[in-house]
Amino acid sequence: QAKQLGTNKYAFYSRDLGERLRERMVRESGLHRALERDEFFLEYQPKIAVQTGMVCGMEALLRWQPTTQGSQVSPSEFIPILEETGMIVEVGNWVLETACRQHLLWQQQGMPPLTLSVNISAVQFHAGNLPETIAALIQQTGIAPDCLCLELTESIVMQDIEQTVATLHRLREQGIKLSIDDFGTGYSSLNYLQRMPLTELKIDRSFVMNLPQDTSAIAIVDSVLTLSKSLNLTVVAEGVETPQQAAFLTARQCHQLQGYLFSRPLGAAAFEAFVDFSCKTVR
Ligand code: C2E
Ligand code: MG
Ligand code: MG
Ligand code: MG
Repeated sequence: QAKQLGTNKYAFYSRDLGERLRERMVRESGLHRALERDEFFLEYQPKIAVQTGMVCGMEALLRWQPTTQGSQVSPSEFIPILEETGMIVEVGNWVLETACRQHLLWQQQGMPPLTLSVNISAVQFHAGNLPETIAALIQQTGIAPDCLCLELTESIVMQDIEQTVATLHRLREQGIKLSIDDFGTGYSSLNYLQRMPLTELKIDRSFVMNLPQDTSAIAIVDSVLTLSKSLNLTVVAEGVETPQQAAFLTARQCHQLQGYLFSRPLGAAAFEAFVDFSCKTVR
């Protein structure tokens, strides 16, 4: 009976793996055509300045709606495939350009000069020509450099330190902002951090989630706040979902908040309406 169980188990796993591989191949070939089929679009999640209670920026988030399928595919599923295949470089450039053009349009429509944050994958960062890409982008779209912020992951900045520091300087010299996303989940060395021309740290949602009860989450959040203050960086808390979390972070002088409590990521039109609304309520 044990043997039979073992056989079934093997059959189960092998069919499961085969299915997963097939799904993955379908996804991958779908992604190859996604750009030309115009299946990508962006949503924008507001960032709120604690001092004013107003929207001070937006994070562009990539979305994929395959034409052949009813529902959207989650970024956590398709972004790793884009990274593994190298397609993230081309798609990442599309994100940068699309987001900057939208930002420009908003400027022309009279929206205040909010900071536009764009996520940059490690693959994209190390592809080699990011500083040139950004320079060309600023030239072509005319976005004010200090309105553009790149969100980098800790894994980017802890790889090949000398090269990374040089690239970060070449980016920062252009006047754009540089943020470390999901801060606290990686292994940043404090020694390296102070060598990097950063402007912002984003406290990862996994810590914010456990506020204000969990004492170790409090300790981590406090130490990120202290670190940011001493390095003169803006601190943003991501994934703020409850008024209690917002109150805690406000009391500790976190600069900006982002999360479902304020707004989910929004399409361009909905974002415009949100900014309009949030200005009126404060004034
Ligand atoms: P991220 O950059 O840390 O973005 C935050 C994620 O948390 C987004 O998920 C956002 O929708 C979600 N989120 C925001 N507030 C809350 C909240 O209060 N509660 C919860 N539960 N979630 C919240 P999304 O859009 O699924 O993106 C996931 C990740 O995919 C992003 O994490 C980012 O690493 C990556 N990503 C998204 N767009 C791009 C892109 O254009 N390029 C690259 N390279 N990566 C991207
Ligand atoms: Mg981000
Ligand atoms: Mg994040
Ligand atoms: Mg995150």
